[in-house]
Amino acid sequence: MYEAIVIGSGPAGLSAALYLKRAGKKVILIEKEYEGTGQIARSICVDNYLGFRNISGEELGDQFRQHVLEEQVEILEDEVTKLVGDEYWIVKLESGNQLETKTLIYATGAEPRQLSVPGEQQYLGRGVSYCAYCDGSLYKGKDVAVVGGGDTALDDALYLSDLCNKVYLIHRREEFRGNAAVLDSIRSRENIELLLNTMVSEVKGDKKTEAILLHDGRSISVNGMFVAIGSKPATELIKSYVSVDENGYVLAGEDGITSAPGLFVAGDLRAKALRQVVTAVSDGANAAVSAIQYLKTDKRG
Ligand code: NAP
Repeated sequence: MYEAIVIGSGPAGLSAALYLKRAGKKVILIEKEYEGTGQIARSICVDNYLGFRNISGEELGDQFRQHVLEEQVEILEDEVTKLVGDEYWIVKLESGNQLETKTLIYATGAEPRQLSVPGEQQYLGRGVSYCAYCDGSLYKGKDVAVVGGGDTALDDALYLSDLCNKVYLIHRREEFRGNAAVLDSIRSRENIELLLNTMVSEVKGDKKTEAILLHDGRSISVNGMFVAIGSKPATELIKSYVSVDENGYVLAGEDGITSAPGLFVAGDLRAKALRQVVTAVSDGANAAVSAIQYLKTDKRG
C-alpha cells in the first residue's frame, strides 16, 4: 500500500513526488513512457522560469527529473488503464499489475488539440504532426506549415525555419496571442510566410502529405503540417470522479483538492488562468501538501 501515487511525469508530477518523498511518504510516480518531461520538452526555449535563462524545455525538464531521481523517488514506466476509488484508490496498469494507495495525485497534463479536418488523421505520421520539436528533423530542406497563433505555434515556426526550406504560419486571425518578441523574430525570417485570417480545410496527398487546402480557396504545397492549436486536458480516467468546467478542465483550487476524497490534481489539467512551467511546479507542491494533510487526518490506518 502506497501513501501516495503520482500519475504523470511532467513538472507538476515531478514536483509533487519530490515534496511527498521529502516528507517521508511512501510514494511512487507512474509515467506512461519517458519522452521528456511533459509538454515543456517541446519548447525550444523557456525564458520565463525564474533563475534559468535561455534554457531549452528539454534541458530544464531533464534537470527536474534528475533532481527527483537524486531524491530516490521510485519511478515506474507503465500505463494506467483504470482508477477505482474504493476504500483506497486502486490503480490498474497495462502490464496487468495493480497498485493500491491512500492518495492519488493526478498530473497527466493536456493533449494536443486536433483541427478535425479531412486528411488530418489519414496523414498522421505521414506529414501531419503535433510536435515540431520531435518530428521537425524529418523535414530538413522541405516546405512545411505550422497552424496556430499561440506561443507553441510561434516557437514551432522559428524552430522549423532553421531546418526547413520554407515555413507557412497559418493563423485564423490577424493578431497573435503568442509572445510579441518571438513574433518579431518570425517576421524577420525570410523563409517564414504568414497566412492570416484563414484556416485549414483539408490535408491532401497520396502516400504522404502533399498539400493543404485553406478556407480562402488557396492550396499550398507542403511536405508537413504541424498543428499547434492548444491542448485539451487528459482527464479520461478521472472524469467520472471529479467536477470539470465547460472545457473539461478539473475544478480544483490551488490546493489541488477535488470533489473526490484522496484524489488531488496538479498541472495543466486543472482549471486555472495560467498554464506555464512555474504554475505546474507550484501545483505539484500544493497538491502534495494537500495529500500530506489528508494522510494526517486519515483514520483508516
Ligand atoms: P494557446 O495559447 O491556447 O493557443 C492556441 C492557438 O491556436 C490560438 O492562437 C488559437 O487561435 C489557435 N486555435 C485554436 N483552435 C483552433 C482551430 N480549431 N483552428 C485554428 N486555430 C485554432 O496554445 P499554446 O500555444 O499551445 O500555448 C498553451 C500555453 O502554454 C500558453 O499559456 C502558452 O503561453 C504556454 N507556452 C509557453 C511557451 C514558452 O513560454 N516558451 C511555449 C509554448 C507554450 P486564437 O488566437 O484565434 O484563439
